Formats: sequence, structure tokens, C-alpha cells
Amino acid sequence: MLSEFDLIHHYFQRPDHRAAPAVALGIGDDCALLTPTPGMQTAISSDMLVEGRHFFAGEEALRLGHKSLAVNLSDLAAMGARPVGFTLALALPSAERDWLAGFSRGLFALADAHDIALIGGDTTKGPLTICITVFGEVAPGRALRRSAAVPGDDIWISGTLGDARLALAAYRGELATPLAAADHQQAATRMHTPTPRVALGMALAASGMVHAAIDISDGLVGDLAHILARSGVGATLDVDALPPGPVLATQDAALRRAYCAAGGDDYELCFTAPAGARAAILAAGASTATPVRRVGSIAAQPGLRLVDAHGTALDLGLTGFDHFKS
Ligand code: ADP
Ligand code: MG
Repeated sequence: MLSEFDLIHHYFQRPDHRAAPAVALGIGDDCALLTPTPGMQTAISSDMLVEGRHFFAGEEALRLGHKSLAVNLSDLAAMGARPVGFTLALALPSAERDWLAGFSRGLFALADAHDIALIGGDTTKGPLTICITVFGEVAPGRALRRSAAVPGDDIWISGTLGDARLALAAYRGELATPLAAADHQQAATRMHTPTPRVALGMALAASGMVHAAIDISDGLVGDLAHILARSGVGATLDVDALPPGPVLATQDAALRRAYCAAGGDDYELCFTAPAGARAAILAAGASTATPVRRVGSIAAQPGLRLVDAHGTALDLGLTGFDHFKS
């Protein structure tokens, strides 16, 4: 039987691992010590994943390790911060070696891809719950805040939307026509192993031209509404300009619109910037190999107006969206 100490030592402590210079002291003491880059601000965010709420019971440990860190890195990306390290608070029903090996492998693969270290945490017995806190750095005045959207700004989206929600619908048996196995597999990859847009967020912040940003974890309409509320502005969103994921693109127009606009679990960035920033934003997208697309504009008039490709107001979705979000 694994003791708590063995568990941490075997699966989460990596003595051979070369931690970033910012990590003065990692796992093993009462606190970790970070040496901040002089003049930089620290960005901090926590996200908790609870079995049965954020992921299915029995979810594969490898991809759960990935997703637990990915959703946290997505918050740093939305702020334009560079990730430095993270802590892991873990409640486990039992210490199973296979599960711990898979989970830590998924976790560290993504951590290594971003060159960040696990610097501490806590471990306890309990219903499976994963709480990660990420630490990042951003130059003063450069963080992309929800409150900074300005009338006249373009609204931009990274990547594609809706495939994660489509996979969830397929798992739940909600689709009128079930997905082909290969399509389900492809959409499910977006749901289980999202890609946090860290490089894009950093490039957008570095440009100094982007106003507001948020990551789309709860669906675009809901998350954009946070920007609008915090900035005291409204917006027009061209629903037909929203880029569907490759699998959702094969579905009918009503489902495409609904899942693009309010699907959730996408971990793409939604951000606003003045028209004069278009070239810089396209350059940031190209330099980070991240597609970016203009999908609407910020207005002084409060409220979110959904329109189709012809600019005609769309009423269809919003009544349905809450239903999709349950
Ligand atoms: P304390 O009793 O002070 O809370 P612990 O015995 O819980 O310390 O943890 C010992 C060390 O292991 C600490 O450095 C802590 O940050 C680290 N640690 C505990 N659990 C985890 C975990 N799940 N992942 C990474 N580090 C952990
Ligand atoms: Mg502890």
C-alpha cells in the first residue's frame, strides 16, 4: 500500500527534472519558493475539477492529467501571462498505481511542453477532485483584462468552436444522427485534451494592442457577456462567422450555430482590439500557428446582439442555450 509520502515521491516529485530558474525551491518543504523576474507581475489562477461534475466517473487518467493542467493554463493564456509553475491539490478515493502513473504522465507531458514545474500541493483521501493553481508572469499594464473592451473594437476568436460540446452530445446520446466512430473520436479529442492558447495569449499581450480577453470555457455567448458586463459595453456577434470545429462543420446549421455560440469546454480565446490592430493580430496568430478570426464588434449600446451573415438579427438560439449548458 502506498503511503501519502510515497505517492508524492513516486509520482509527483521529479528530482532529475531541471526546473525553470524561477523555481528556487520545489516540492518537499512547507512552501515552494519562486524568484520573480524583477519588474514583472505575478498572475495566479485556480481551477478545480470534480469527478461526475467536470469529467465522467472512470475517465482515463492520462487525459485527465492533461486536461486538469490545460484548463488552468488557459486562464493564464487569457491574461496573456507566461506560465512559470503550478501546485496540485489532489483528493483521491484510493492510491492506485496505474491511475497515478497515467495521471502524472498526462500532467507532466503538458507541463514539459510549456517548460513549467510542479512546485507543491496537497494530497488527501476523498472523492476524486483535482485542484491546480497556476502561477505566471506578465509585464505591468500588459495583462489582458475583461474590463478593457472599448466601443468600436473588433471581437476575435482563436481556433475553432463546438467540437467538445458535440462530443458531449454524442456521449449523452443527444444527437438525432449519431456520429461516425472516427468523427466522434476526433471531436472527443477536443473535449478530453484541449490545447490552451498560451503562445497566442502571450503574443497578444506583447503586442500591446489587444484590449480585453477571456477564455471560452463556458460557451462564447456567456463568456463574452462577462467582457461586456465588466467593460460596460455591448456587442454584435456574427454567428455565421464563428468557426466550427471540423466535425461540427459537417452538422446542420442549427446545431453549428448553437454549439459555436454556446457550446462550452472550448478553451479558445475571445479577445477585443481596435481595427488598427488587425495586422498585428493576424501576425500574432501566424507566429504562434493559431488561427484567429474576426467575428463581431463591440458597441456602446449595452446587450449582445446575435446576427447572421447578412446582419439579420437571430433570435433562435438564446432560449435554447441554457438548455445546452445544464
Ligand atoms: P504539509 O504537511 O506541510 O501540508 P505535505 O506532507 O502535505 O506537507 O506535503 C509535503 C510536500 O509535498 C510539500 O512540499 C507539498 O507541497 C508537496 N505535495 C503534497 N502533495 C502534493 C501533490 N499532490 N503534488 C505535488 N506536491 C505535493
Ligand atoms: Mg499538506
